[in-house]
Amino acid sequence: MTAVTPGMVCAHHHLYSTLARGMPAPPRTPRNFPEILELVWWRLDAALDLEMIRWSAMLGALEALEQGTTAIVDHHESPNAIEGSLSVIADACAEVGVRVVCAYGVTDRHGPDGARRGLEENRRFLAEGGRGLVGVHAAFTCDDATLDEAAALADEFGVGVHVHVCEDRVDVDAPERLRHLTTDAWVLAHGVHLPDDHGLRGTIVHNPRSNLNNAVGYARPARFDNPVALGSDGIGAAMLEEFAYAYFCHRADDVTAGPDAAWSWLETGRSLVPEAAEDRVTWSYAPMDPWHVAFTPGIRPLRVEVGGEVVWDDGHPTRVDPDEIRAKAAEQARRLHARL
Ligand SMILES: [Zn+2]
Repeated sequence: MTAVTPGMVCAHHHLYSTLARGMPAPPRTPRNFPEILELVWWRLDAALDLEMIRWSAMLGALEALEQGTTAIVDHHESPNAIEGSLSVIADACAEVGVRVVCAYGVTDRHGPDGARRGLEENRRFLAEGGRGLVGVHAAFTCDDATLDEAAALADEFGVGVHVHVCEDRVDVDAPERLRHLTTDAWVLAHGVHLPDDHGLRGTIVHNPRSNLNNAVGYARPARFDNPVALGSDGIGAAMLEEFAYAYFCHRADDVTAGPDAAWSWLETGRSLVPEAAEDRVTWSYAPMDPWHVAFTPGIRPLRVEVGGEVVWDDGHPTRVDPDEIRAKAAEQARRLHARL
């Protein structure tokens, strides 16, 4: 028995983190979310070069297809390899056959020049016709002028801003600082510590597994008036798994919750990348409805069609050599880990 659905969308991803697995342990154990950023992610992103970014994205795109995910809304940061990075990611995804919406996460944590170069990379990519949003790391690592410039750049290109919001208590000022800038096109990742009446416009992306991993709390996304979508925050792009995490977290908080809410969050992802609704995924299981999928681990796509082209068939990608991608990614992971 098989069933067909539209393509899955990962509404918040960090393809650059694909090579992080197995990285050397940080110098000391992080004790809270700001320390996780400082001791893990901000050391990793600073070590990235364009070749590492390329194979990280190739592997991430391959693993997305393997899970029936045909579109990724990516959020990228590589402070020592900014220029051209978004095109490297877009090209890698195109080669594998996955749709991607790119953004460079602007921040002032490397000084005003770092912020300027990040904004410039977003501008370059969008001006060259790239599919993207303007990225901002988070309000708590940006000054107001940078937030204003990012919002203005997004308006100029008629797109939204992709930004982390209230992932941790460290970012509780975000609603106050962003409220007057947001539009419905913004993508707000996390929202864990947003008040119910936050007043921000845009789609809130819930990343249940990442939130558990970082011990930042539960976002209770069912309380928001905003559209809610699901993301992985860089832990692969297995959206049926994220759906299951979203459902079980919801259920742990409210025993009357059903899986329909989390299933609808999966569907919201397709409003961010509408073409994914035309993609076709043939699954190893039927029926693909929330009550079945929530309690059936291990459902796999047998065949994936993106824009009418079969890009995954019978356990294999059709456009690329998966062994080559895994080998090249492993080689780049060794280089990256050696730098750490
Ligand atoms: Zn994130």
